[in-house]
Amino acid sequence: MFKRAFLFFIAVLTPLLFVFGVTYKVGTEASFPPFEYVENGQFVGFDIDLIREIGKLKGFNVEVIDISFDSLIPSLTTGNIDIIAAGMTITEDRQKVVDFTIPYYSGDQSILVRKDSDFDITVLFGNHKIGVQTGTTGDLWVTEHLSDKNIIPKKNITRYDTFNFAVRDLVNKNIDAIVLDNPVSERFTKTDPVKIVGIIKTEESYGMAVKKGNKELLNLLNSGIQELQKNGKLDELIEKYFK
Ligand code: GLN
Repeated sequence: MFKRAFLFFIAVLTPLLFVFGVTYKVGTEASFPPFEYVENGQFVGFDIDLIREIGKLKGFNVEVIDISFDSLIPSLTTGNIDIIAAGMTITEDRQKVVDFTIPYYSGDQSILVRKDSDFDITVLFGNHKIGVQTGTTGDLWVTEHLSDKNIIPKKNITRYDTFNFAVRDLVNKNIDAIVLDNPVSERFTKTDPVKIVGIIKTEESYGMAVKKGNKELLNLLNSGIQELQKNGKLDELIEKYFK
């Protein structure tokens, strides 16, 4: 009797668990192409594919939640989301409050200006207007190296919730430059009348994040990333989104 009940559990409920399985809430900020963006009303991009592939390997479903970048870590801490997949740079300060996976890609900061402008890297001096996304490593770099040192007046820095608004303001001449991750600015040069005039060698590594101490989920994600590195799928996704 017990044996039959046990077999029932194994035979019927285990596959069901897989079908209905756990769903992880994955927080992102979907104005960061090609990492994450909206296409035909769907969340798509490198991070989105990556977390779904890990889900396929490890048997979990993914619900993507789009929130402002500077709300991602607080949302993870309070448990509103389970995972951050947002082209997020692994930094020492963030490591104090969340746990990061192994790195899965890397990049630098870059200086984006209007295509028809004569700006070069000197756009980062004087009275120019600079845009960043709130709470990003670009924001930190501009704050630390430009506005805190009065190289650019504080009032000339505009902080945006989404890069879509920042690029729109750049194209409309409301600002002169944006400082953001170079894989993303490269993508914007293909979709908008903008160009890159400089790379700031910050040598950043991107990782996904989980709540501090959530070892189980962290190990699951790390093992997923490693499998995708070994079976060539990660390279395939890099080829698909960054080449
Ligand atoms: N990589 C940058 C950071 O972590 C920007 C990420 C983003 O804007 N989505 O701050």
